[in-house]
Amino acid sequence: MNKNEQISALILAGGRGSRMGHVDKGLQPFRGTTMVQHVLERLAPQVGSIAINANQNLDAYAAFGVPVWPDETTGFAGPLAGLEAGLRHCATPYLVTAPCDSPFLPADLAARLFDALQAQGADIALAVTQEAGMRKQPHPVFCLVKTSLLPVLSQYLAEGGRKMDGWYADLKVAEVLFEDGDAFRNINTLDELRTFDAKMGSGPQNHTPAPALAASGSGPADLTPFSAPRLKDVVSCLSDYDPDALPVRHAQKIIGDFITPVRSVEKVALRSALDRVLAADIISPINVPAHDNSAMDGYALRGADLRADGPTTLKVISTVFAGRPNDAVPGAGECVRIMTGGVMPAGCDSVIPQEHVAAISDTEITIDAGAIRTGDNRRFAGEDLKAGSPALRKGKIIRPADLGLLASLGIAEVPVQRRLRVAFFSTGDELRSIGEPLDAGCVYDSNRYTLYGMLTRLGCDIIDMGIVRDDPQALEDALRNACENADAIVTSGGVSVGAADYTREIMAKLGDVTFWKIGMRPGRPLAFGKINSGGKSAFLFGLPGNPVAVMVSFYFFARNALLAMMGAEAPLPLLRVKSLGAIRKKSGRTEYQRGILSVDANGQQQVAITGSQGSGILRSMSEANCMVVLHDEMGNVNAGDMVDVLLFEGLV
Ligand code: AMP
Ligand code: MG
Repeated sequence: MNKNEQISALILAGGRGSRMGHVDKGLQPFRGTTMVQHVLERLAPQVGSIAINANQNLDAYAAFGVPVWPDETTGFAGPLAGLEAGLRHCATPYLVTAPCDSPFLPADLAARLFDALQAQGADIALAVTQEAGMRKQPHPVFCLVKTSLLPVLSQYLAEGGRKMDGWYADLKVAEVLFEDGDAFRNINTLDELRTFDAKMGSGPQNHTPAPALAASGSGPADLTPFSAPRLKDVVSCLSDYDPDALPVRHAQKIIGDFITPVRSVEKVALRSALDRVLAADIISPINVPAHDNSAMDGYALRGADLRADGPTTLKVISTVFAGRPNDAVPGAGECVRIMTGGVMPAGCDSVIPQEHVAAISDTEITIDAGAIRTGDNRRFAGEDLKAGSPALRKGKIIRPADLGLLASLGIAEVPVQRRLRVAFFSTGDELRSIGEPLDAGCVYDSNRYTLYGMLTRLGCDIIDMGIVRDDPQALEDALRNACENADAIVTSGGVSVGAADYTREIMAKLGDVTFWKIGMRPGRPLAFGKINSGGKSAFLFGLPGNPVAVMVSFYFFARNALLAMMGAEAPLPLLRVKSLGAIRKKSGRTEYQRGILSVDANGQQQVAITGSQGSGILRSMSEANCMVVLHDEMGNVNAGDMVDVLLFEGLV
């Protein structure tokens, strides 16, 4: 691999642009194009691939033809959060960063940082400049980082660290002195931008297209608004549709029929493919195993030599170790000592495990009649997978075993669906964020944390938009902003018919949204549809506000839909177990009761429901290890009846 191919570049464009009057810095016009385009062009020849870290105007950045990664740590946590997102997605061993407002960055930035890092055995290399008679000035946003440092950085951020030079305090840093201080000039204010732009002239630039980060075909979501169905068309397929008494399964079906997948693929390094959605069938390029081989430590022999009427004595002519085939070809009456995984010698079709050999010397073995049959303990080439046969199907969520399988095929890069961008916020004047004083009559916003957890487990790129007041303009702004930046929006609260809830009204105004009362408990109110703003569209899940209801509604409506948008199919697995006690249940609606699954004295699984089942009691959700799903048609459950449960462990 040459130097460039080992390095990816990340352009840091994730700031709020506050000093630019809240405009996005990177997208500002500069010398006939935009600032970020200049940075792209200067970095492109230096590295194998480029991506941008941005937290707003994602599609505008994606239009440059490179992947765009928003922060994972929320709240505009600064350049380190951008670096974290870049490291997470980086498919090469090194990542070099530069800010989006440094259009003059050195043409040898990546190479010099890389050389210094290698020479000094450092973890990070960063640029420094020094003016005559002055102290050295470090430029920590111009740095080259080992991709393997992601966990160190994530921990630093998780502990609240935000300072660029704080996180590598305990790491080995190589400083690289650059002569040209002007190369690191950045443009911070609109005034500076205008001054520079005028000074430098704005002649047309020579645009070389930038390579995408180890990927092709990534780009903005392909949500085709014209061919997509309208909700009323989808709903008309149901004969007895009643939005005010909709069975769970009808709501699930409508959502499933209305959703369209986001088609955008990126290639990632094998390890990074864990938990991602496979975007193409993987066809095995080789036979696995590649050769017939032994399943045991023992002796490879020709079955035809085995006598049925008494012991067989064979001469040992050679030894085969795993990974070291040799060309010994045993003749009649001969065998080869062989280790597990050793390639079967020509002519041999069976292996006798060494512990089944009756007598052994260095040169001879004796085998009792009937000790093995011909063909025993021989693994065939292609037994696991034949060359040309499908190893993994598109749409599969890649698990540890799949990583192993892909590795066994020698596959280093995997095509996966790009992560789904999901924006979420809570609505309600009574909500306070943690860290704020809890005024009279108020509650802390817990739903955003529950949603954060569930969406993160689902593998989404999340945009936490905070709390939005019960105010029409604030709601409209939030929904529009979410719609323009995300593939899907999840809100909580405001979808029932409370007096101060404007959520429904604004959702309906912005697109094709329907409001249901679902035959379920907890839950019931749910908004679903698609909204449009600024030429973009996003699917909308308006979940109820009650803390348990929001989880239940997420798991049973949003989860599968979001997975379908990612091109994955992973239906919720329900187990059937014995109910320890009687459960009161009204027929005609689906009830989700929090349960505790345990094992009885005979090793049989059983479930008991937790105490209070109120839809606001999050404690019971936390105590539970499963949810008991009592379907529409069911009435009261007797002790000992079998019921369906959804296990929380392993649930995404
Ligand atoms: P709503 O659906 O907006 O009528 O809210 C129903 C109930 O859930 C009210 O008691 C709210 O205070 C509560 N609630 C709504 N959103 C949240 C939230 N984000 N965190 C905690 N409780 C909430
Ligand atoms: Mg409310």
